Amino acid sequence: MNAASTNAVRPIEIVGGGLAGLALGVALRRADVPVTVFEAGDYPRHRVCGEFIAGLADETLARLGVESVFEDALRHTGVRWFSGDRDLAALRLPAPAIGMSRFVLDERLASRFVAHGGSLVTRHRMATSEDREGRVWTAGRRRVVESPWVGLKAHVREISLADDLELHLGAGAYVGLSRVEDGWINVCGLFRRRAGLAGDGSAAFARTLRGSGLGALAERIERANFRDGSASAVAGFVFDRGVARRDRLGLGDTCAVVPPFTGNGMAMAFTGAALALEPLIDWAKRRISWSEASECIHELLRDEFRLRLRGAAWLHPFLLSRRAQSCLGVLARARLLPMKPLYHLLH
Ligand SMILES: Cc1cc2nc3c(=O)[nH]c(=O)nc-3n(C[C@H](O)[C@H](O)[C@H](O)COP(=O)(O)OP(=O)(O)OC[C@H]3O[C@@H](n4cnc5c(N)ncnc54)[C@H](O)[C@@H]3O)c2cc1C
Repeated sequence: MNAASTNAVRPIEIVGGGLAGLALGVALRRADVPVTVFEAGDYPRHRVCGEFIAGLADETLARLGVESVFEDALRHTGVRWFSGDRDLAALRLPAPAIGMSRFVLDERLASRFVAHGGSLVTRHRMATSEDREGRVWTAGRRRVVESPWVGLKAHVREISLADDLELHLGAGAYVGLSRVEDGWINVCGLFRRRAGLAGDGSAAFARTLRGSGLGALAERIERANFRDGSASAVAGFVFDRGVARRDRLGLGDTCAVVPPFTGNGMAMAFTGAALALEPLIDWAKRRISWSEASECIHELLRDEFRLRLRGAAWLHPFLLSRRAQSCLGVLARARLLPMKPLYHLLH
């Protein structure tokens, strides 16, 4: 082995070309680290997601070098809550959230990664049994057979919104509506799994909403125009209460899944990538071992996400119970809901 090969920068493989994987790929390429991203699907593609990014710091995007991806994104601050068919409260977010579809966002990040010299292998599902040094797992939510949740989403037009984000709390369900690009409104809900939650298209979506006590919203959805190919569903996932120690290096949802009402899962994917960046560069440049890099990243992730995961896990059941929703409504109308502290706990 000659001196050149022993000093060469080590390549990094990233499994999963979603937000965490692509953002990390861009940032590593900016540091001249050779990177390959393996992605099971292709771009552009619709994904089940509220497409409402809350609590994403500008410094995180700058550290990753992806701030320009959001230059023309919508900014949302107003939230209107409904419980069943009742108007519950209007609230302002302490900081604006970003509105952009995953259809646009993931494709922009993928093009940015390739433009920085990254190697992107699409339609390639990596076997999850194969792990090795230099491989980072950003493959999204871990699959769980016994999951109580189903997520549904579609882009619609020709309905009006009461505020930037409408959040509808139902029986064992909640649904968010907010604008993304080109006049489309993203409708995305989390539903407790029950019989009759099947099918796709507007009729199935409306039926699911009615079954969750959201009749008025169901009527609006029935009258809306659906965007071709945007209706999608996902199941087989659970939410985490903390960052567990795992045998492999995982970022984004692979590291920990936060309930979607926080609107913070995407920000966590970017933040995790930014936290992992320096230790991964140190490993690629042969300054530390893989186990040192993994250990350091695990501690950074655990410290950063511990409180918000615990807080979100504690609050989540309240949003799904009708009785708790009525209490929330009373507190919100009396301006007794500590919105700012709650926001800071969850973001
Ligand atoms: C119903 C619902 C609503 C949500 N709403 C919001 C919201 O409004 N705001 C918010 O911030 N977050 C929301 N989230 C959460 C958010 O979608 C995730 O936190 C975010 O997508 C995580 O990004 P990621 O990069 O970790 O994973 P993903 O974006 O899921 O990317 C993972 C990628 O890995 C690929 N992949 C998987 N396995 C393999 C393999 N073996 N080999 C190769 N590739 C593989 C997948 O194809 C995918 O492209 C919501 C989630 C749900 C379920």
